[in-house]
Amino acid sequence: MLTCSHRTCRNTQSDLSIRLFGQKGFYLEDDWYCSEDCLDTALKVAIEKKLSPLLEKGSNILQRPLLGLILLESALISREQLQLALSHQKHEKTARLGQMLQRLGFVKEEDITAALARQSGFPRLSLDRIVVNEAILRMIPPRIARLQRIFPIEYDPENNKLSIVMSYPDRTVVNTLAKMLRSQIAPFVGDETLLEEVIDQYYPKNSTEGNVEAGTFSISSGIESISREIIKRAKVLKSQDLSIERCGQHLWVRITVENEAYNLFLTIADQTKDPDLLEAPLRRR
Ligand SMILES: [Zn+2]
Repeated sequence: MLTCSHRTCRNTQSDLSIRLFGQKGFYLEDDWYCSEDCLDTALKVAIEKKLSPLLEKGSNILQRPLLGLILLESALISREQLQLALSHQKHEKTARLGQMLQRLGFVKEEDITAALARQSGFPRLSLDRIVVNEAILRMIPPRIARLQRIFPIEYDPENNKLSIVMSYPDRTVVNTLAKMLRSQIAPFVGDETLLEEVIDQYYPKNSTEGNVEAGTFSISSGIESISREIIKRAKVLKSQDLSIERCGQHLWVRITVENEAYNLFLTIADQTKDPDLLEAPLRRR
């Protein structure tokens, strides 16, 4: 028997009714809602929760990871070298700290990767002779691969485990992926330069997104209309299965129909004038 997760509804659908008429309602992640109205209420709460860190004044989701500190602690660079690199970086706004440290000859890329691996506890992986098949590539939406700088390398169907490489290890990203893809994620750390090359090669910027739709909603459209839009798409796709997460400046909605997943990306910040910014990774070194 299913019981609606809406706080005041508590409608049920019996096993017999499910068998005779099929399952009604919708799943939002693991919770079942009996109707469109109950889903709508739950969706609005979920969207608000995902958006709230963005709406908080002064919150900075582009916060720089503490790469400099990690390298200092590992005694790979000196305080003076870090200060010099940071001041150079200030002048050339495009360069990342890691790249700047390399350019100044203070550190080698593999040292950075090793330090990040040590710090995160994620194992290192060489991307040298990487061969990936189409099915594995398709597991990660191109937009997510480019946005979060991650690359899928192997899938173990027996344990439903996807191995991915990232250049900046980030547990939040790993958790988001596990939740949205409904699989275990085994994260590895790889050299940034090679990872960027591989991502550009396998997920070119103008590549087709597959079952992906991009939305043009912004925060100003209001949670009300975002929720309605998501329900509309679910109904068009005849899906009863939805997941929702924030990913950088996007709200990532995954609508699953049988074994196909449709990804919907809603722009949740008013940065539509600068598409590059939207494509920028959440965290840059
Ligand atoms: Zn209900």
